[in-house]
Amino acid sequence: MLGVERSASEGDLKNAFRRLARKYHPDRSTEDDAEDRFKEIQEAYAMLSDAQKRAHYDRFGHDGPQGNPFGGFGGGGFNINLEDILGGDFFSSMFGGSSRRRSRRGSDILLRHSIDLVDVLNGTEQEVTLDLPQPCGSCDGTGADGGDLVTCSRCSGQGQVRVRQQVGPFIQESVQPCDACSGRGSVSEKSCDVCSGKGREMESTTLRFSVPLGTEDGSRLRMRGKGEPAPQGQGESGDLFIELEVEQHPWFERSNSDLIMSLPLGYPDLLLGTSITIDHLDGKPLVVKVPSNSNSGETIEIKKRGLPRQRGSGRGDVIVLLKLHMPSKVPKAAKKTMATLRDELGPKDQQQSIIDDAKERRNS
Ligand SMILES: [Zn+2]
Ligand SMILES: [Zn+2]
Repeated sequence: MLGVERSASEGDLKNAFRRLARKYHPDRSTEDDAEDRFKEIQEAYAMLSDAQKRAHYDRFGHDGPQGNPFGGFGGGGFNINLEDILGGDFFSSMFGGSSRRRSRRGSDILLRHSIDLVDVLNGTEQEVTLDLPQPCGSCDGTGADGGDLVTCSRCSGQGQVRVRQQVGPFIQESVQPCDACSGRGSVSEKSCDVCSGKGREMESTTLRFSVPLGTEDGSRLRMRGKGEPAPQGQGESGDLFIELEVEQHPWFERSNSDLIMSLPLGYPDLLLGTSITIDHLDGKPLVVKVPSNSNSGETIEIKKRGLPRQRGSGRGDVIVLLKLHMPSKVPKAAKKTMATLRDELGPKDQQQSIIDDAKERRNS
């Protein structure tokens, strides 16, 4: 759609977007479907720049947001899902057949937390209070009454058993996790009354963390050992991941550290030039100086008023896309005035202007 390689850099992508935005901007383009195409270009750009920032998900060794089982939460505040975000496959491939017992590590916990662009700009401190699983104090996390675990008799503490199976004329022998002790090698004779043998209790916990400057939507913070306690209290607790969801801003779109916005202006403002002041995320007014003879579809860059760069220092830019505003209703008097200006503001030579515009479009 944007005519760029899959591996295109951020800069290439932005350039391609600008070039096409100019070409197909509905106010400028002579093509019938310019408006649809312009929308498509915007969507393609949003998707591609999204795909780039999502590449970092691969490091976690699980599916991206589309494929992950925790999709569809959303809503205000945060949500918690107690399932292991790394999934069973991760551990079975790590410990494979060489391990005699299942992992003793507790599950990881994924917490979703909403922030806005002001948090991304300033790196604000966050505080979240929620119930998290802690080892049961009464049984030391073992789940056994009095904390006493005994060796599993079925597997003699091995955590796995050999199973012989008749398959046709053959006898097949395989090793399977012991179901009496869930592969742990030890069992409790009597369950702890406090936690009903689960070995953990929910406890209200306050987490404090700061949003890293320039955080991308979907990035994760890791809090080591704040996940679920290990089974039977024997082993490391899992980790807690906080996934930061950046809320959409009413008018800014984000492209890494740049902020992109569209500014609708009347024809007189584009022709004569103007200065527009808008409230900005950094608390200081954002002044957009529109030069005279500006064209709809042109962009104005306001340097260093974007978001902080993640690598290196400084801030990105604000990119303002100028757009011709067409009023839905125009008073008669204004129409009359415009009629007197028709000849002066239109092209001098209509035929030549069509050729010139085509040339410009093909070269841009
Ligand atoms: Zn207990
Ligand atoms: Zn067993």
